[in-house]
Amino acid sequence: MHKPSARTLHSLLLAVVAGTPVLLPTDDDKVTYDDTPQLPGQPYKVHGDRPWPTVVAPAAQVGAAPADAVVLFDGSNLDAWRGGKGEAAWALEDGAMVVNGTGTLTTRQEFGDVQLHLEFATPAPPQGSSQHRGNSGVFFMGRYEVQILDCFENRTYPDGQTAAMYGQYPPLVNACRPAGEWQSYDIVFEAPRWEGDTLSKPARLTVFHNGVLVHHAQEFLGATAHRAVARYAAHAAKGPIQLQDHGNPVRFRNIWVRELGGYDGAAR
Ligand code: MG
Repeated sequence: MHKPSARTLHSLLLAVVAGTPVLLPTDDDKVTYDDTPQLPGQPYKVHGDRPWPTVVAPAAQVGAAPADAVVLFDGSNLDAWRGGKGEAAWALEDGAMVVNGTGTLTTRQEFGDVQLHLEFATPAPPQGSSQHRGNSGVFFMGRYEVQILDCFENRTYPDGQTAAMYGQYPPLVNACRPAGEWQSYDIVFEAPRWEGDTLSKPARLTVFHNGVLVHHAQEFLGATAHRAVARYAAHAAKGPIQLQDHGNPVRFRNIWVRELGGYDGAAR
């Protein structure tokens, strides 16, 4: 029998006097339980024995790639990418890759559900206005765009501003930093699901822009379109991530992705 120490009893007394809910100490050092109810829709009991989540060493500095990430760009080379016409040919400058008119970059690897981190900086001093100021974008599966643009004191149609699900939803807020400053996207993208050629679950997106939530589990209406309503058309379960060359010298650095599982009710 576990005996509470005098100190524990004193803390308990203070908590009770303060009206704080108290978890009484017990003699139960169980790790898992087998006398608990079945969890609905899962092959496990409440608090039951089940696979332990994999231990992943997080980066020393949040924003850097954790241990299980696929690094798409670490500042040294463009090996993870194909270019508009064959090899990726964006400029490499000071640990960044820079859009230079050679075409949109496409990952060699294909992905379904992912967590993506990337950092970008739009050209400084800013040039152009509306959609012509620091335009780029990140496309999931080569189809679903999160807009990159300089919307620091630059107005454009809201569903095309920085961090918009282009042509579909504006971000919840405008979290832009000024031109030339490094900014970050942390994105959870859930691929659409199909039964044959019929959509069974739309693609879904959560985005933090510079650490600020700008989309939360928002469903895409379909593949990104310009001046048209987005529509879905059946595609493979995985596709490439793309970075748009829209003709503006946007810079990128520190791009990594983690493939996700568990969104299909898979056991975990
Ligand atoms: Mg764009």
